[in-house]
Amino acid sequence: MSRCLEILNEVFGYPAFRGLQADVVEHVAQGGDCLVLMPTGGGKSLCYQIPALERMQRGLGAAIVVSPLIALMQDQVAALQEVGVRAAYLNSALTGQQAFQTERAFERGEIDLLYVAPERLMTSRFLELLDRSKIGLFAIDEAHCVSQWGHDFRPEYIQLSVLHERFPSVPRIALTATADEATRNEIIERLALDAARVFLASFDRPNIRYRIVEKDNARSQLLDFIRSEHQNDGGNDAGIVYCLSRRKVEETAEWLNTQGVRALAYHAGMDADIRQTRQEQFKREDGVVMVATIAFGMGIDKPDVRFVAHLDLPKSVEGYYQETGRAGRDGTPANAWMAYGLGDVVQQRKMIDESDADEAHKRLSTAKLDALLGLCETAGCRRVRLLAYFGEGSQPCGNCDTCLNPPDTWDGTREAQMALSCVYRTMRASGFSFGAGHLIDILRGNKTERVTQHAHDQLTTFGVGAALGEPEWRAVFRQLVAYGLLAVDHLGHGALVLTGASRAVLKGEEQVTLRRYVKPVRSRQAGAKS
Ligand code: ADP
Ligand code: ZN
Repeated sequence: MSRCLEILNEVFGYPAFRGLQADVVEHVAQGGDCLVLMPTGGGKSLCYQIPALERMQRGLGAAIVVSPLIALMQDQVAALQEVGVRAAYLNSALTGQQAFQTERAFERGEIDLLYVAPERLMTSRFLELLDRSKIGLFAIDEAHCVSQWGHDFRPEYIQLSVLHERFPSVPRIALTATADEATRNEIIERLALDAARVFLASFDRPNIRYRIVEKDNARSQLLDFIRSEHQNDGGNDAGIVYCLSRRKVEETAEWLNTQGVRALAYHAGMDADIRQTRQEQFKREDGVVMVATIAFGMGIDKPDVRFVAHLDLPKSVEGYYQETGRAGRDGTPANAWMAYGLGDVVQQRKMIDESDADEAHKRLSTAKLDALLGLCETAGCRRVRLLAYFGEGSQPCGNCDTCLNPPDTWDGTREAQMALSCVYRTMRASGFSFGAGHLIDILRGNKTERVTQHAHDQLTTFGVGAALGEPEWRAVFRQLVAYGLLAVDHLGHGALVLTGASRAVLKGEEQVTLRRYVKPVRSRQAGAKS
């Protein structure tokens, strides 16, 4: 039996490796560099902990684990100490005296795994400690923090390539759950891992059921979802509800509490100790719903989160995958639920336009948003679409909304033409463009004050779309924007303008297939509970 497997059995008490773990630990134990891409819950920690112990046993030295979050580090160290591994950490939570003692113990070879924050690792004091000690392995956890495009970016991570220059013979293992190709390449380049082997696990999370519903009244849709699938006599399941703004986080949490759902708010505008307390409550108590911005993220290792809900659209497919990935880490059924509407698209486009980023970054952000809109609007399997984004092929899953209730599609060419010509005619008549609400009033023939004020009831498109209801029209406009047939103008009022692609549709050269609008109903669909 391999020594690594022995360590897995004897120290950790697990009978067998999972997935790629066996290959990774052998590779690293033998001194190879590697990059490990594995989804959250895939078992990344053992990938470096086991070779660390194996190499220590062979007298090759201790492992240094670079980890960006203090809370994460402390949990890992506590878990290792519990099974008898000599683990310790160095971070700003320690007093000078405690740090000094840990450093001495490390120098004496009394520590197998030493966790450090990247900013501490780069200090000359720490690098000198490494020079004086025997080092058997460098593990770089959450390696996507080197990526400048990602929202977890840590400038200190970029300097980690120094490790390789200073200690060329010590093997390195970098790990992350962010797998899109751009991030992967950035990690390899910035950490100088071009000669490293890449271990890419499947990113499928088969126990998560993906569902994206049309936003109608998002709050009450959320409450329906929680009540029908995540509430029972004893209270509610643990879950996370993501919102875009701090204000919406607070309002939603407050409102859920008045509706009998135990909810806490969490965002970066709160004091650190309040955030800490709430994170602990979420982790330790049963049935807490955390309503949060994406500030509540990395390092949430609660295994029994039964649902992740999005009241606002994330920025990218990676974001959606990471956030929904916090559900069901224990492997039992969990729900990823999102309400999405035209307003979300307008809002995200506006945020990109108004950001201080340079043009290249804005183009990239737009492309990322478009990929996510493609996932939202797909009539095919969500999982196939999601995995394809990470370069992984798969078959329809049978466990997402579109597999369970394949959406109807219809030939919306005529309606698309009505909508586009309405945009064109209002623009020509008034000299500026309008938002979807006003355009829909014109199409449906509503003589609102605004319509008469602009004499838009005189347009040839007035009333031509009376056969469709308001929500149906919203769905048409949303899809036209998602498909790039309409764009949100740059002034930030949510006004819609024609694009280069609109012309072919207006001229009848291009067909438009749309997903049929489904009226939100109280969901009785089998969820995580049944
Ligand atoms: P990640 O860091 O990839 O999100 P973790 O390393 O935290 O995942 O592992 C997730 C869970 O799976 C942990 O509870 C861990 O103990 C468990 N686990 C990992 N590998 C194995 C294994 N080979 N056998 C049994 N349990 C495992
Ligand atoms: Zn599916």
